[in-house]
Amino acid sequence: MADMTLVDFMENYSFYIIFFLLAGICAILFALILILRERSKIQKIMHKDPIMDIWNLNYLIYQGNKRLRTDRNKKFATVTVNIAQFRSYNLLYGWDMGEKLLEYICMLLNNSVDSKTEIASRVQGDSFVLFLEWENWEDFMTRLRNLQNKIQKSIYNLTENHLRVRMGVYALSEEQEDMKVAVNYSNQALSMARSRKCSEIKVFDRALEEKLRETHEREKMLEKIEIDDRFVAYYQNKVDIRTNRIIGGEALVRFLDPLKNGKVESPAYFVPYYEQTGKITEIDFHIMESVCKMLRKRLDEGKTIVPISVNFSRLHFIKKGFPERFEAILGKYGIDKEYIEVEITETLMIEELMQQEMIKSTLNTLKEKGIRLSIDDFGSGYSSLGVFEKIPASIIKLDRSFFMNQQDRERQIKIMRGIVMLGHELEAQTVCEGIETEEDIQVMKEIKTYIAQGYYFSKPIPQEEFEKILDRQEEIKSGCP
Ligand code: C2E
Ligand code: MG
Ligand code: MG
Repeated sequence: MADMTLVDFMENYSFYIIFFLLAGICAILFALILILRERSKIQKIMHKDPIMDIWNLNYLIYQGNKRLRTDRNKKFATVTVNIAQFRSYNLLYGWDMGEKLLEYICMLLNNSVDSKTEIASRVQGDSFVLFLEWENWEDFMTRLRNLQNKIQKSIYNLTENHLRVRMGVYALSEEQEDMKVAVNYSNQALSMARSRKCSEIKVFDRALEEKLRETHEREKMLEKIEIDDRFVAYYQNKVDIRTNRIIGGEALVRFLDPLKNGKVESPAYFVPYYEQTGKITEIDFHIMESVCKMLRKRLDEGKTIVPISVNFSRLHFIKKGFPERFEAILGKYGIDKEYIEVEITETLMIEELMQQEMIKSTLNTLKEKGIRLSIDDFGSGYSSLGVFEKIPASIIKLDRSFFMNQQDRERQIKIMRGIVMLGHELEAQTVCEGIETEEDIQVMKEIKTYIAQGYYFSKPIPQEEFEKILDRQEEIKSGCP
């Protein structure tokens, strides 16, 4: 044994040696496979969407930046894609159905890109970003429109719902080197799309850049200012069409812009921004206070008053304390609760399904306290009769869209008559909004409802004018001009 050479040893134990060598190689291979697997898992986590079979935004930015460095002779664009009303669909049909729909959209987007040179990615929820190549702009836009139509049709075939696809597009300039900036621009383009409910393709261009700058400056200004007397209540009267008498009014906020010599700005100018920041709740109470002040002043002067409805944002109802603060303001000015009505939009009930218990309890408290609730814009958006069950309303405001739909007048009248009758059964008064013409008045008579609000009688006017009209009405009634 002691004299055994290395050669003898290898010959004698060749079987074992080969066995151990093979086992070693297998172990190394196995370890390598494990490492590679883990690596691809890690890469997948880093680059793939965690739920859907689609790339994530990180991957799009990473690959896009690489292409921008190496392929500058090509033209690129980023496209932000969003499904309008997806949130409502999700709430109405449930999470699983929503997820199925998104998976389907991922598949359509994946199939629509050239997997070697282009990328489809999901940001989150129903928000996607595409990194695409283009040569001719017209052809590129046709490609996007076709994709938009295809997705919309497929969604309809799958769900029987007309959900709209919106796109924001940014064509990368030759100097553009940062994909994050490019994605930001296509996002911005999408945010400037006209309506959240329409299918639209908005391209980021100079005009849009200018508009964004204006919006940014306006928001900066709005952020800084206090909620004070620059926010005033305008009034639009509600008229009984049988007597032509004003039986009430609605307070509508206006902003007197200090930067534009007190130019009167409508809610569209600032309400959406303050809804985002939450400051709208302060504005609503500020308007309620100015209404109460006006009513108090009139009472002190021995003049008549009419009930005024005040718009309250949905934000009030998802937190505590609304009824208490409302009552405190009434108490401060000694105004009876019948004289201030709370207007809330019906979309509130569908959109805020998650916080329903909180909303329900606030609304019930208001009802118990005898505060009058008014369902605003009934018939716009996702109307459902279920809203009557959820909002214990004293007033239902039929939206202007009912009066605009003249396609099948007879059918429309039957539907409206049904709603008026239902309101009657529920002891709720119906008010028709947006009454503009003699024909609208005729429709009101046919559906047997008589309280109108709209340009036919008056636009929203400043407090002094509204008061003068009330005074005049009183003088005529008492026979003393
Ligand atoms: P709304 O509460 O449904 O108010 C009715 C809107 O319709 C008003 O627009 C009014 O000027 C307009 N309008 C009235 N009659 C007619 C008509 O015959 N034809 C047409 N085409 N429009 C008519 P405005 O004042 O621009 O207010 C828009 C919306 O802003 C309001 O809709 C309400 O949702 C919101 N808003 C107004 N004031 C406040 C407020 O103090 N607080 C909150 N949270 N929202 C407010
Ligand atoms: Mg209103
Ligand atoms: Mg309304």
